Amino acid sequence: MSALEHTTLVDRIRQLEREAQPLEPGTAERELLRHAVMESSERFLRNIETLKAFDDSEDKGIGLLQAPISERGIPLEAALELLEREVVRPGGNPASGGHLAYIPGGGLYHSALGDYLAAISNKYAGLFFTGPGAVRMENMLLRWVADLVGYPATAGGNIASGGSIANLAAIATARDAHGLKGRDFASAVVYLTTQAHHCIEKALRLAGLEEVQVRYIPIDERFRMRPDALEQTIAADRGQGLKPWLIIAAAGTTDTGAVDPLDAIATIAERERCWFHVDAAYGGFFLLTGHGRRVLKGIERSDSVALDPHKSLFLPYGSGIVVVRDARWLAATHRYSGHYMQDALREPGEISPADVSPELTKHFRALRMWLPLILLGTEPFRAALDEKLLLARYFHQEIQALGFEAGPPPDLSVVTYRWAPPGVSLERANQLNQAIVDGVRRDGRVFLSSTLLDGRFTLRMVALSFRTHQRTIDLALRILREQVAAIGA
Ligand SMILES: *Cc1c(COP(=O)(O)O)cnc(C)c1O
Repeated sequence: MSALEHTTLVDRIRQLEREAQPLEPGTAERELLRHAVMESSERFLRNIETLKAFDDSEDKGIGLLQAPISERGIPLEAALELLEREVVRPGGNPASGGHLAYIPGGGLYHSALGDYLAAISNKYAGLFFTGPGAVRMENMLLRWVADLVGYPATAGGNIASGGSIANLAAIATARDAHGLKGRDFASAVVYLTTQAHHCIEKALRLAGLEEVQVRYIPIDERFRMRPDALEQTIAADRGQGLKPWLIIAAAGTTDTGAVDPLDAIATIAERERCWFHVDAAYGGFFLLTGHGRRVLKGIERSDSVALDPHKSLFLPYGSGIVVVRDARWLAATHRYSGHYMQDALREPGEISPADVSPELTKHFRALRMWLPLILLGTEPFRAALDEKLLLARYFHQEIQALGFEAGPPPDLSVVTYRWAPPGVSLERANQLNQAIVDGVRRDGRVFLSSTLLDGRFTLRMVALSFRTHQRTIDLALRILREQVAAIGA
């Protein structure tokens, strides 16, 4: 390289450094950014009690597209204004205590700050070699969850992005633990109920198991798996030369919050040598309460459990946990290697998340869970969950006082109910309940959802957010009364 070429090269490098400089804001600039972002989050949180739980806007955030990604960027105020108007406002508001639809959770402030700190250090949480503290934190939280479930010291797990992925990891693990190969799929049988979350069937397909036999075990009048029917079905399958393989129970179904009889199912699974998986994505952290421990008894006898901290531990979306009784099975399913990993693989120590999950580089998810737990302890979580259990019972009583027909007393914190005055046909009742849930959504102060149970259009109320209190439930009851009046019933 000539001297002139060298000078040109160095000039060009320096010029590019200057042009890339906006990527590294200085102290004063950071202060401005932080202040504006904090102001935006405070505008939201200071008004959270009165913000709509559902904003049924016409435009659905379309205005966002008027600001395309460009060469020069736009001012911070304009970007935050766009965010608040086009993203935060329209649709459901999962941070609101009035979000009583689907399965809420809320989103703890401490977790938001944990995410902020995780992104600042950008600590690598995939491998013990480069992120020993981050990996210890994840494993410590997984041990805490395994203890909550009642698993022995052999247990291990992974903090994934949600319940769907946690269930997928458990199902893939169950496949390999039983040595199922392609030729075995058509004779392997999985047992669940029609109340299982649809992500279970998605996971079976993703795990290459679309061809397995799926048996929907009859449910009792409270939507729980019937152990006697499970036994009969397994016996019939054995009689046909099929291979009972996997039993999936729910510790809180999404639809009605029903908890399958886990202890009785565990006994059958042990005897039949089936892998026993419990989908506790909704109900898992009720194990922090005395009531939850009683209702979920038997979960400690399972082989794997999925739990969602972004539901019953109130974390923001993006946190699901799988724990497996024997961590070696989880590791066997997710083993990998690569020449570029040779430094990391030499390092002994804790289990690395990358060895027990499909992910390599991952969000440092543990910090958003650790920060609220280490700062607050478990006591306020237990109180909030016990409060939700009682709020569900309270709603179950009061909704009947309003003349609604209520579903079974809640196992956890989901209540089903419908408006079905005597003499009204099923078809008409379905229309009326559709009108009620649509009316509630248009009103927007609370957000309720519906489902179909045995062909009946049924309304649901789920108390799970840490921001849902008695005044929220009373407001929901008032709005339901208004809606019933509005449909002229
Ligand atoms: C929410 C839920 C899932 C799915 O979990 P995601 O976190 O939404 O992926 C699975 N099973 C049950 C019982 C659930 O409530």
